[in-house]
Amino acid sequence: GAFGDSTLWSLLPEFSMPPRAGNVFMVVAPSGAGKSSLVNALLQARPEIRLSISCTTRAPRPGETDGQQYHFVSVPAFEKMEREEALLEWAEVHGNYYGTPRDWILRQTEDGNDVLLEIDWQGARQVRSRFPDAIGIFILPPSIEALEARLTDRGQDEPHVIARRLLAAGGEFAHAPEFEYVIINQDFSAALADLTTIVTAARLRFRSQAARHANLFSELGIPHTSAPL
Ligand code: GDP
Ligand code: ADP
Ligand code: 5GP
Repeated sequence: GAFGDSTLWSLLPEFSMPPRAGNVFMVVAPSGAGKSSLVNALLQARPEIRLSISCTTRAPRPGETDGQQYHFVSVPAFEKMEREEALLEWAEVHGNYYGTPRDWILRQTEDGNDVLLEIDWQGARQVRSRFPDAIGIFILPPSIEALEARLTDRGQDEPHVIARRLLAAGGEFAHAPEFEYVIINQDFSAALADLTTIVTAARLRFRSQAARHANLFSELGIPHTSAPL
């Protein structure tokens, strides 16, 4: 039909390019499942993916640097960002506030960059209402015992903090059905291969390909509209 005709489409200057929408990946897991290790390894392999740096009111762990793992902020500063709607989403997790800076994500996705968020399930829900095409990935440990051992062996949290995180894990697993992908992080390199595969598949979705290869799609007369994903 006329509105699916790419030639007609391209005559309208404001619609001459489909939006350059980058993919939004959300990696969610209970503490100790291996989220940060997997994400860091993914970013080594796919350095073009941009990692969102969250704001948190949690104290830095040994070795964490402001602006690298997190923007470490005070509670009043966090509440101010929340009031000023500077956060795309935020949640209270294990007694601390965590939130995703809004403007950075919007800029990156509008520029066509893929972004990855390491957030909790509450935040993932909020992001999905803003980015319905966001890809949700839930990481599971191979067992509760393994989760406990990893939290303990990581040696970065006080015993009472570890106990609190283990207790919370049960409630977090209950939200796994809200995610389209599940990775069981038993063998690290197998789990990393799974994560990389998900990223590759997401990039081959119709809308991503249409944005990335706009000229080819236009030349072949492929309509921009009404693609499911
Ligand atoms: P980890 O569980 O060992 O990675 O410990 P962290 O203290 O780094 O993260 C604690 C929790 O906060 C995890 O569930 C994260 O996914 C979550 N989290 C981190 N950043 C954000 C964020 O920007 N927004 C939301 N909603 N949750 C976050
Ligand atoms: P999260 O970010 O989900 O809290 P981390 O990435 O910090 O988890 O991983 C928790 C601990 O478990 C770290 O010490 C990490 O080295 C270890 N770990 C991660 N994946 C595996 C795995 N597949 N096998 C064994 N240990 C792992
Ligand atoms: P940690 O304090 O161990 O770094 O993170 C604890 C939990 O907070 C993790 O499950 C992590 O994914 C979550 N988290 C970290 N940043 C954010 C964020 O910006 N938003 C939300 N909602 N959760 C976050």
